[in-house]
Amino acid sequence: MAEVILKDLYKAYVKGTPVVRGINLHIKDKEFVALVGPSGCGKSTTLRMVAGLEELTSGEIRIGDRVVNDLPPRDRDIAMVFQNYALYQHMTVYENLAFGLKNKKVPNEKIREAIAYAASILGLDPLLDRKPSQLSGGQQQRVALGRCIVRNPKVFLFDEPLSNLDAQLRSKMRVELKRLRSRVETTSIFVTHDQVEAMTLGDRVVVMKDGYIKQAGTPLEVYSRPANRFVASFIGSPSMNFFDAKVAVSTTGMVVKTGWANVPIAADLNLQGMDSVVTGVRPEDIAIDGDSNGSGTGSDHVTFKARVEVIEHLGAEVILEVAADQQLLTISRVNPYLQLKIGDILNCSFPVDKAFFFNAETEEAIYA
Ligand code: ADP
Repeated sequence: MAEVILKDLYKAYVKGTPVVRGINLHIKDKEFVALVGPSGCGKSTTLRMVAGLEELTSGEIRIGDRVVNDLPPRDRDIAMVFQNYALYQHMTVYENLAFGLKNKKVPNEKIREAIAYAASILGLDPLLDRKPSQLSGGQQQRVALGRCIVRNPKVFLFDEPLSNLDAQLRSKMRVELKRLRSRVETTSIFVTHDQVEAMTLGDRVVVMKDGYIKQAGTPLEVYSRPANRFVASFIGSPSMNFFDAKVAVSTTGMVVKTGWANVPIAADLNLQGMDSVVTGVRPEDIAIDGDSNGSGTGSDHVTFKARVEVIEHLGAEVILEVAADQQLLTISRVNPYLQLKIGDILNCSFPVDKAFFFNAETEEAIYA
């Protein structure tokens, strides 16, 4: 049982150039938090400070009811899973699992119990007598997880644990971690650059950029109500489409206008004093004529024509790159059985309420 509280966390490896710039995060007991962001944004540094592998430049870290700033890693009651599982090659799986506990002088009977528990959760029973060289990558990763579980720590720290695995194994391990999650309710911090991993595993997703937290929220919150343009573009795949638009008044109320579309604005959306806004729409929210959900019409849809530039067949869906005037847009979830060709002119639409607006200068999202 432990919450983890990060207060005004700063880290500068080189004096004067911080890479973590004032992280404040309250991770609740049993919560699984995914720290996600592009490479170099300070995720691992943050995690390593929690682990005690990196000194803080300033700030405070609490695990449970203790400030741990000055505690060495072994006294923090945490277990860390890395990319490299670092199993002892000359030991069996059982011995690998037992190693940390033996060092702590845990009685043999307790060690057996802890290993039996971890092995049953992770399906390691048939592998206990093998050496790591006789295991697949996924199995080794499971042993690495098992080593953490047997220690029954207050907090699990995961540093990109799946990034060395190939795509197929990666998604399999993601499901395994999800399953593990429902059985072992230990407070966890999971670092990844992969937004899909963050979204599927995290109770809460913390999106970082340049050493700052740009937004922390449930997967649905960061997807459906991104706080700023960065989060809007980072979460979701393919990435959200953005275009610059002028704010204007039409006969029916306020609109934002581009050369190719007019997007009506809800009366309670405050664009006061703005000449232009950045408008966003997700690729999956744009429909085309002839598709199963059809291109919408009427006042609750924005309609426009666009020319097919690129066709990507993914099997279950097609992703299109289209040009509306000069504006390139991505459209996903297109029916793969439509006979589309480069150069086709399509009737496209998206629901008015699926448009996002961002302040052109601050890039903060604007909501009613
Ligand atoms: P992420 O995990 O998000 O990829 P990191 O926390 O590893 O990012 O790194 C953040 C920044 O700190 C990067 O610019 C990286 O080059 C720098 N950095 C990381 N470790 C060190 C180090 N030991 N010494 C100097 N700079 C470092």
